[in-house]
Amino acid sequence: MDSTTTYKCPNCGAGLVFDAEKQKLHCDFCISDFDESELDTEAMREEAQREADADREFDSKTVEYHCASCGADVICDDTTVATVCYYCHNPVVVTERVSGGLRPSKLIPFKFDKDEAKATFLRYAKKKLFAPTDYFGDANAEKIAGIYYPFWVTDADTSGSFFANARQVRTWTTGNYRYTETRKYRISRAGDIHFEDISMSAISNEDKKMLEGILPYPTDAYLDFSIPYLQGFAAKKRNIDREALYGEVKERMDTYADTLFTGTAHGYTSVGDKQLDLTVRKSHWEYSLMPIWMLNYKYRDKNYVYAMNGNTGKLYGEIPVSIPKMSLFAGGLFVLITLICALLGWLLF
Ligand SMILES: [Zn+2]
Ligand SMILES: [Zn+2]
Repeated sequence: MDSTTTYKCPNCGAGLVFDAEKQKLHCDFCISDFDESELDTEAMREEAQREADADREFDSKTVEYHCASCGADVICDDTTVATVCYYCHNPVVVTERVSGGLRPSKLIPFKFDKDEAKATFLRYAKKKLFAPTDYFGDANAEKIAGIYYPFWVTDADTSGSFFANARQVRTWTTGNYRYTETRKYRISRAGDIHFEDISMSAISNEDKKMLEGILPYPTDAYLDFSIPYLQGFAAKKRNIDREALYGEVKERMDTYADTLFTGTAHGYTSVGDKQLDLTVRKSHWEYSLMPIWMLNYKYRDKNYVYAMNGNTGKLYGEIPVSIPKMSLFAGGLFVLITLICALLGWLLF
């Protein structure tokens, strides 16, 4: 085979490399080896060609900017060229074409348009008792932007085995004697677990709190990515590769498997010395974009974020507290309390 062809691992979709010593194709990601004869190389070559074409198309129809004010790296399609940053609303100049395999494979489209996102935001801000009056303004709500956030979404088939030591303790008293009976058990379990849509943010932790606030997205909302979905929106550029997330994804699977297996050990006083061995047999990774309506708002030199899940409408919001409005309220409270005290006084005497 020629070394420039990139075959993908049938187990996990990562790129295979040819190991000359073993004369096998090797996957670094899931640690598997394949004979070239066991792979349908013709189909794989065609698939690789299709992907390369799609990558090229993506690169030629998208541009990116780096915002000097807030540091955001943002991708948009070249018919929606940004003049101000989607995040901080400072002027930006789009300078570069996108390159380097950043084409998403899946996406969840926006379900609400900007007017609806604005209306929800204004309703939300009005309900906040201490929000400053100038925060309600239409001009501010106008800055809401539809932004796709990059995620790695994983499905996996795993096989697990689980061992633990358990105890059952019983105590009773007969006459002057107190008895304690401890029964010891060795627990062993085994089973297959399928994981669906483990979603990990593909950008470093900057917006972690916001993302936790608006997740999850429904598993049936994913569509195959195509460029028109980007029109009128922006996409945050990914800066985490799947290889960097494998450990964290595996940890999540382990934690879940542990809970699942432990849950099958009923009726013991304690379960300890747990040993779990979870093997990933097959995994499937999709680089996906998730829709968020977002408003970054600066009030008295502090930044606030308002965000809405573009599919479910789930909200996350930080709203500044207006000092004058709060003291007005506190003032009202004081008057009310004084009045009640006065009334009470009048009643008592
Ligand atoms: Zn693999
Ligand atoms: Zn910016």
